[in-house]
Amino acid sequence: MKLIYTNENRIMVLNVKNVLIGHGFEVALNNEFASGAAGSLAPFWPEVWLLKDDNLEEALKIVESFDTDISSITWQCDQCFEDNDQTFDYCWNCNAENSQ
Ligand SMILES: [Zn+2]
Repeated sequence: MKLIYTNENRIMVLNVKNVLIGHGFEVALNNEFASGAAGSLAPFWPEVWLLKDDNLEEALKIVESFDTDISSITWQCDQCFEDNDQTFDYCWNCNAENSQ
């Protein structure tokens, strides 16, 4: 087994898991509910594990392209360099207009 993806955002982790399953990979989810404890800072992020190491490279490529997809739907603020959702016309952090 190889750890192939982890993120503090459980939705992202679940998306990666679903994409990999969609490509025919056998994966396991770890710590899925670790961040669910009310109000506490969880020490663990949810993790996607690849069950078979022999298709690790292919799986990593898919995960990488998935990360690229995510970054392409955000824009970075010129003023404070925060990432913003594509649907925002103004930076959520400093209220600067999206110039991209
Ligand atoms: Zn900003």
